[in-house]
Amino acid sequence: MNLFNNVSIGVRLWLIMCSMALMMLAGGIIALTGISMTDNALNDTYQNSLQPTKLISRILLLMNDNRAQVMQWVQQKPNSHLPYIGKPPVTLADTITRNRDEIAALLTEFKKCTLTTEEQQLADNYQLTRGLYFDEGLLPAITALQAGNYQIANDILLNKINPHYETANFQATILLQKVLETARNRYEQAKARHSLIRNLLISSTLLGLLLISIAAILLTRSIVRPLNLAIGHFQDIAQGNLDGNIDVSGKDEISLVLGALATMQKKLKIIINELDRLASTDKLTGSWNRRRLEETTKDEMDRLKRYDNPLSMIMFDIDFFKHINDQYGHSAGDRVLVELSSSIRNSLRSSDSLTRWGGEEFIVLCPNTALTTAALLAERLRTKIASTQFAEVGQVTVSVSVAECGSGESWEQWLKRTDEALYRAKSGGRNQVRIAPGTPGLVGVGEKIAANFVRLVWHISYECGNQIIDHEHHCLFNIANDLLAAILSGRPTEEVKILIDNLSQDIIKHFQHEESILTNAGYAEIEEHATIHRKLLDDTARLVDRFHAGTLGIGELFNFLAQEVVARHILGADREYFPHLSHLHSVNYIALNNHAD
Ligand code: GH3
Ligand code: MG
Ligand code: MG
Repeated sequence: MNLFNNVSIGVRLWLIMCSMALMMLAGGIIALTGISMTDNALNDTYQNSLQPTKLISRILLLMNDNRAQVMQWVQQKPNSHLPYIGKPPVTLADTITRNRDEIAALLTEFKKCTLTTEEQQLADNYQLTRGLYFDEGLLPAITALQAGNYQIANDILLNKINPHYETANFQATILLQKVLETARNRYEQAKARHSLIRNLLISSTLLGLLLISIAAILLTRSIVRPLNLAIGHFQDIAQGNLDGNIDVSGKDEISLVLGALATMQKKLKIIINELDRLASTDKLTGSWNRRRLEETTKDEMDRLKRYDNPLSMIMFDIDFFKHINDQYGHSAGDRVLVELSSSIRNSLRSSDSLTRWGGEEFIVLCPNTALTTAALLAERLRTKIASTQFAEVGQVTVSVSVAECGSGESWEQWLKRTDEALYRAKSGGRNQVRIAPGTPGLVGVGEKIAANFVRLVWHISYECGNQIIDHEHHCLFNIANDLLAAILSGRPTEEVKILIDNLSQDIIKHFQHEESILTNAGYAEIEEHATIHRKLLDDTARLVDRFHAGTLGIGELFNFLAQEVVARHILGADREYFPHLSHLHSVNYIALNNHAD
């Protein structure tokens, strides 16, 4: 086995297949050699089949010789015109007898040959005639010749020898033809069989080679391909790619290996994910650690640069945490950290993340979030923590800072701004949100706020001429702006709630005043206008209730009160009655103001 260690399995299979093909080729060659030998044997068979014809020819020759002997001596009769050559010698009888014996021997040999029934019949007939030829012809003729009775011998020659010879000759010729024909038929049949066998052998050898080649290709593929696939998966895993889709549907050994590999990949992935999680997670709170935050922030800052996606961070630090440790013990402090981070995580969107930045200092990274939204979130988090009763220690507060990353700002610069704002939140009395000023790439925070919220700026052209109405409209603008400022500067929720209640009360009062002034002025569409007021007040009451119940965010409520009720109504529906009051001003509303107040 060691011999093949350096040879790939594919090559080994090919070697096996090639050996099989060679063996098959050798088998084919051997078989063809056998056929060629059969060919020779066939030839011999053909020759043997011709043996009877040789025997008969020889017999005919001997018979003819006998007849010639008699004819020669008959013609030597004493009164013949031919020269007399004497009495026929005794050797004539000997010659004829010798010929007869040879003929008998030849006939015996002839009978040993394989003959058909017809040939046998012809041979018997021939033998009968030859017997008559000898007994009735030759023997009496010799006796007559030896006795000098040439005339008798001549008569015998003419009447017996010649006719019997003719008959025998005729029968022998027919027999010869038959034997030849049989031999030829047998030879042709054998030749056809031989051709058939040879062709079968050649085609089966070629077919065998073809099948072996196809089998070799399929077998090699079926083994080498999955092996290469497995090697590919191993290499992927070695390079750290654990997401490869490993097909384990087969049932062969390679599939078992792949199955084990798939299990290994799955377990490896779990382990790596767990290691990754451990390496990027704070052990105590389960929040991200600095490493994870810095990695993610890098990606998010790239996105900010490339797509101008806003990116904000909220940093918060537990107030007087040292006291908690001192008073309740370090373990209780730990539990506060765990409880607090879990509570914060539950309040975040899935895209936001919580990182434990230091001991009791945390950062919430808010991708796709501009400063104002982050500020609202920060306030919500602050409120939530402040209103939570922590086991053992009771109320805990946090100081919070918010900063949006400026385009072109570095991580360090951004972090420094956030840290400075947190310091201000601490020094400003703790339990509050502070917005980091001076986001690079923007003129000022005010502009950023204005870009996200409608900041209401009063203008002389908004005045209708009625002093009470104009004053109240102006006041509503200011209260809405105060509310916005309170939200963004992270004023305590109670304070914000008071501002909201004030605003809604002022709206109610203003609507009452406005309706009575318009009634007194004889404004014809007073009913329609009052209906709009009622609808706005109903909506306001409903949304304020939801806000107090915690099911509506401060952002949505602010948008409704400041924009829908105050700005849009005053600068929209109210304009309808302007012509009925003392002055008519052209209205020029600047909803989005790019100047900080
Ligand atoms: P400030 O309001 O100014 O933030 O006051 P503080 O007491 O929270 O801040 P200070 O930096 O003086 O103290 C932080 C304390 O947090 C001190 C440290 O022992 C504690 N601390 C840091 N990490 C852990 C921790 O993992 N578990 C516990 N129980 N305490 C921690
Ligand atoms: Mg601290
Ligand atoms: Mg602290």
